[in-house]
Amino acid sequence: MPTLIKNGTIVTAADTVQADLLIDGEQVALMGRNLPSEGAQVIDAAGKLLLPGGIDVHTHLELPFGGTVSSDDFFTGHRAAAFGATTTHLDFVIQPVGGSLKEGIDEWHAKSTPKAAIDYGFHVAITDLRDDVLTEIPSVIDEGITSLKLFMAYKGLFQIDDTTLFRAMQVAAEHGLLIMVHAENGDVIAELTKQLLDEGKTAPKYHAVAHPAIAEAEATGRAVALAGISGASLYVVHVTCEEAVEQIALGRAKGFPVMGETCTQYLFVFEEDLARPGYEGAKYVCSPPVRQPKDAAVLWKSLAGGDLQAISTDHCPFWYEGGVEGRIAGKELGREAFHQIPNGMPGIEDRMPVMWHAGVGGGHYSANRFVEIASTNPAKIFGLYPRKGTITVGSDADIVIWDADKEHTISAATHHMNTDYNVYEGMRVRGWPEKVLLRGRVIVDGEEWLGAAGEGKFLRRKPFGDVL
Ligand SMILES: [Zn+2]
Repeated sequence: MPTLIKNGTIVTAADTVQADLLIDGEQVALMGRNLPSEGAQVIDAAGKLLLPGGIDVHTHLELPFGGTVSSDDFFTGHRAAAFGATTTHLDFVIQPVGGSLKEGIDEWHAKSTPKAAIDYGFHVAITDLRDDVLTEIPSVIDEGITSLKLFMAYKGLFQIDDTTLFRAMQVAAEHGLLIMVHAENGDVIAELTKQLLDEGKTAPKYHAVAHPAIAEAEATGRAVALAGISGASLYVVHVTCEEAVEQIALGRAKGFPVMGETCTQYLFVFEEDLARPGYEGAKYVCSPPVRQPKDAAVLWKSLAGGDLQAISTDHCPFWYEGGVEGRIAGKELGREAFHQIPNGMPGIEDRMPVMWHAGVGGGHYSANRFVEIASTNPAKIFGLYPRKGTITVGSDADIVIWDADKEHTISAATHHMNTDYNVYEGMRVRGWPEKVLLRGRVIVDGEEWLGAAGEGKFLRRKPFGDVL
């Protein structure tokens, strides 16, 4: 039976219009005024907004990292995402060291297929770029994957040198793949880490000292330059600071196809949180690290003004107190030394509400721009548009019925992520999803979960599109 959503206000990146929405099967079939309701299941959305489902292009579910595994799998992570109005995400396949890209892709399909409850796609993170892997790169397009990630940090683990990065960019430019980089100078970080540990400086707050903003800016500028020379399109993940934004803006001003995202935590969590009493700072350890409020001010402006095109989470949750009550090991692994703290924070569920509340409610940008950075641009950049990322005839009916007036206090006690803390604990937000539809089916209705493991679809992505 078709579904008719009546009396809502549709908000896309371009427009805000009052219209009824008819969903037939999994797609939007018709939009218009006073659509007839005969033969349809009717949802009344009077006084509510209809937003395209959120798209989070940077997540790490069930990721083996730092001697443990991130604590959300493809079911718990998907269910949490849906409760937070996100209906699509892109996760990073990690190439096994010594193995092929295909082996990594197969491993990620095995983890996700039986559990998936929202739609998802993959990037491939290259960790070991041997000559045979360089030759293998174009084949990922046949797997429905059109973006590659390379690490300029994590020395001795994932870090690649400039030759390797440049060669990968050339191959990507030739075959129409998007290059994503983790931009930090890994050599500097490794050296500073060693020196700090030698001086007995082991507390979580030293994580930020070991990862200076300038080291991020330097690597960002280098990646931008190499992209300019190679002709590859570049997407810089998790941009955290004013100096790195400057490098991206510089590249864009020169006409290089350079794009960037920031992640929710960099707007709300700061270096001072790493210095919280006891070991609590470990909750906020991620790489690059959280910075200063003055950096967040630049990030808000860049999201509003266009030098950054997308907001994601880098969702990579770990228990604060892991290794007990059947929990896998977590943040406690770094009690002796900050460099052993598993890097990452939970956030897949919180992104849409906090970015609406502080972004739209706080006057940083319009509701349309919110939709653009949280859904439309991610879909365009990563080859999912207009199937995802907007509400139009023929697009997937991933619809959020959004109550802009509803207030909610964020807390680990009520969230759905598989973690024992929430980065935004106690934050009172205004604006909350009332219902969430995935391809026409209601999967979240208020507090009720109506989705199911196995219903999420793997998205074979088209070539990326520059958003410049
Ligand atoms: Zn990440």
